Amino acid sequence: MKLKNHSLIKSINRAIVLNKVRTKSPISRSQIAKETGLDKKSITNFVTMLLKEGLVHETGKIGASAGRPSTMLTFTEKFVSGIYVSPEFVEVIVIDLYGRIDFHNKIKYEKKNNLNAVKKAFNSAVKGIFMNHKAVDMLGIGVAFPGIIDFEKSTIIEAVNMNCLEGVDYSEEFTVHGVDVFYEHSPHCSALAHKWFGSGKNFSDFMVIDITNGIGAGIINNRRLFHGAGNYAGEIGHITIEKNGLKCRCGNYGCLEAYASEDIILEKINEFVTVDSDSLEDRYLEILANNDCKKILNDMGVQLAQALATSVNLLSPKVIVLNGLLIEYFGDYLLEVINNEIGKYCLKKCLDDTKITTSSLQYSHVIGAASLALSDIFEVNEYYYI
Ligand SMILES: [Zn+2]
Repeated sequence: MKLKNHSLIKSINRAIVLNKVRTKSPISRSQIAKETGLDKKSITNFVTMLLKEGLVHETGKIGASAGRPSTMLTFTEKFVSGIYVSPEFVEVIVIDLYGRIDFHNKIKYEKKNNLNAVKKAFNSAVKGIFMNHKAVDMLGIGVAFPGIIDFEKSTIIEAVNMNCLEGVDYSEEFTVHGVDVFYEHSPHCSALAHKWFGSGKNFSDFMVIDITNGIGAGIINNRRLFHGAGNYAGEIGHITIEKNGLKCRCGNYGCLEAYASEDIILEKINEFVTVDSDSLEDRYLEILANNDCKKILNDMGVQLAQALATSVNLLSPKVIVLNGLLIEYFGDYLLEVINNEIGKYCLKKCLDDTKITTSSLQYSHVIGAASLALSDIFEVNEYYYI
């Protein structure tokens, strides 16, 4: 890493100090110095700056058995928010700088795939954020969209499951005045959430397969999100699993998404057990006891295994995390099928180094969206990632 100048080093050291407060608070200045290896004078300067900015505060002294008692530091009550625009609803969350949830809500659309209805729900979500939080305490808002984003033109270029967003300039239509707003593709947010707070926390390279009404992946490479050349990286839902197969919403035939996405699986299950995404909690045991439904889930597992094998061969991630509503209820069943099948499609050595697991993180899309704002505080773009 070539450090450009003094201010870059300062930004990185500031992020290092902030991360110590995030992970170890209450923590004293001398403890930060000891754990970061930075000299005490620099720590004193950083802390003075953070106190002045109102990001940290002193919370009294804790006595050491030998020597002077230390003044401890923690974050003040500052927050970041996440908003997830999905084909079914807009979800919103407010978390503090430690990631603790302070507010959460879901707003269903009056009309599906309608831009005005989506904007109305988005504005209600924003209202919710500021109902109990002052603008001055809100350090940033992240927004997750189900479509692929052109960051340069601030436009959603493709959203096969939510066409009403295609061509939309989000910086005009989905903005929040007076706060920094960050945007990202929703499966990418899901991966970021797992990096900050989920099963990817301790791994430098992993991926999250996000199964909603679309299927997408977020790839974390060396602790940072991998976008690819045009932010398309991770479109695992459009891997062909069946030559000349069913028509997919993208226009091609035989894509994984045409077989194994949430709405399609629920539609198939509905032939045998009446269920929708809201009633899954009450019905999933009945579904697991039904042989026809089990066959549907079995096929889904085999199809996922085929697509996952490609990822294992290509990227060799340490962990693959399966995420989504169907995984929440049928994750164990699907995992067993996948583990039995995947070896048929990938190299044994690649597979030995990859663990496939299911997510236990709640609200991953909105938390991931909020983490875009956390990244602005705790990471230095291109140079320092937690
Ligand atoms: Zn497709």
